[in-house]
Amino acid sequence: MSKTASTAAPDLLAIEDSWGEFVAGRYREGKSEAEFRNYDAAVVPTVAEFYRTNHERQTLEFVLGKEREYFALNKGKMTIWEAAEFLNTLVDGHPRWMVLTGFIHDLGKVLCLYGEPQWAVVGDTFPVGCAYSDKIVFPEYFAVNPDKGVAEYQTQFGIYEPHCGLERVHMSWGHDAYIGHVVKDSMPEEALYMLRYHSFYPWHQQGAYGYLLSKHDEEMLPWVLKFNPYDLYSKGAAKPNLKELKPYYDDLIAEFIPGQIDW
Ligand code: FE
Repeated sequence: MSKTASTAAPDLLAIEDSWGEFVAGRYREGKSEAEFRNYDAAVVPTVAEFYRTNHERQTLEFVLGKEREYFALNKGKMTIWEAAEFLNTLVDGHPRWMVLTGFIHDLGKVLCLYGEPQWAVVGDTFPVGCAYSDKIVFPEYFAVNPDKGVAEYQTQFGIYEPHCGLERVHMSWGHDAYIGHVVKDSMPEEALYMLRYHSFYPWHQQGAYGYLLSKHDEEMLPWVLKFNPYDLYSKGAAKPNLKELKPYYDDLIAEFIPGQIDW
C-alpha cells in the first residue's frame, strides 16, 4: 500500500497549509465575536473556496454513503507506520495514549489516497441531517447545500432526538470520523473523542449544538479541549525529527495498536 500522501495529493497539502493557518488564527484563545467576523472577512480566496465547496456538498446522503464505504474497513491492512508519512507532534507530560493520539490524529487523511476530494477530507466538521449552527465558519455557504431544501433536515433536531449524544450524530465526512473508526477497538474512549471531534470547532470552541449532546459528551469535552492546542500546533511549520522519535513511538504503537489493522 502506498504511503506517500504528499506526492499523491499535492492539492490537499496546498489547502492544508492555508486552511491550517486560517484555523489556527481563527481559534486563537480569547477572541470576541467581532474579531471572529473581521478575521473571516479577511480570508484568503483558496480557503473561502474550500469552505464554499465543503458546505455545499456535505449532505446527509453524502455522509451516509461515505460511512458505508469507509466504516467497512475493507481498504486493506497497514501498520500505523505504514500509514504514517510524517509525524504530527510530541506531547510531553501526558498519558501515553494521548501522546499516541497526537501522533495518529491526522492519519485519516489517507482518505486522499483513496481519491477523496479535499472538501471531504479536511475542514471544520459539523452535524448533517439537522439545522446548521451559525457558529459554523461561513454559514452562508450552506445556502446551496441540497439539504437546505429538505425541511426535515432543517429543524433544530432534524433526524435526531434531543440530547441523543454525538455517537448518533452523523458528522460531515472527513479524516476525523475515519481515523476514529479505524482505531475504535484499540484506543481509550477519551482518545476516540479527541480523534473524532478534533475538527468539530463549532462545538469545542464555540459551544454550539449543546442540544444534541449527551451527558457523556459533556464529560468528554474537557479531553477534546485538552487536545486542541496540539492539533493547532501540528498545523504549524515545525516538523519533529522522525528518526529521533521513532523508537519512542514504536514503543507506544506496540502497546496500543500493534501490527496491521483494518483501514
Ligand atoms: Fe486533523
